[in-house]
Amino acid sequence: MKYPNDIVSEILMTNDEIQKRAKEIAYQINEDYKDKDLILICTLKGATFFFSDVCKYVDLDCKIQFLKASSYIGNATISGGDVKISDVNKFDVKGKDILIIEDIVDTGLTCEKLFNHFNMEGCNSVNVCTLLDKPSRRVTKVTPKYTGKEIDDKFVIGYGLDYNEKYRNLPFVGVINKKYI
Ligand code: 5GP
Repeated sequence: MKYPNDIVSEILMTNDEIQKRAKEIAYQINEDYKDKDLILICTLKGATFFFSDVCKYVDLDCKIQFLKASSYIGNATISGGDVKISDVNKFDVKGKDILIIEDIVDTGLTCEKLFNHFNMEGCNSVNVCTLLDKPSRRVTKVTPKYTGKEIDDKFVIGYGLDYNEKYRNLPFVGVINKKYI
């Protein structure tokens, strides 16, 4: 079985565009963090694809960590607001410069929670790099340091982003066709 041909109603970022932005952003990270003690953090599961693209071009002496963040319940397309984070206490961030790599910043609640946690733990700096940004949905003051692309308020799938755990393996980002929700 395959995904239906019309699973997305619109492609927002092709694979080529994603690769191009990942490389550009990584080069900027190389510049901005060259004198810092960097930890790159991947938020599971959605950011994994973009995370590995960016990391491949980061040419710095840095650590890589993973944590799990979720706010969607079941097959919802709107965040539940109650952000759950795990594995966040498994590494020492004191004095470190943290760059969280996200799939998408929507309300900003996930990032806000992570920022508060790492600041309380005594990091030197904490920022977010996101493949996609939906600024119109923001309810926090979170502003990504690096953004692949700003998009409108539409539910997207592909390139790590799921709907009910499916479609993460699509090699592009697209708007889910409403008939499949
Ligand atoms: P925030 O805490 O910023 O509201 O939400 C962040 C998380 O919500 C993302 O990491 C992602 O898992 C999920 N999310 C937000 N918008 C979308 C979307 O359009 N599609 C999918 N698949 N997930 C989304």
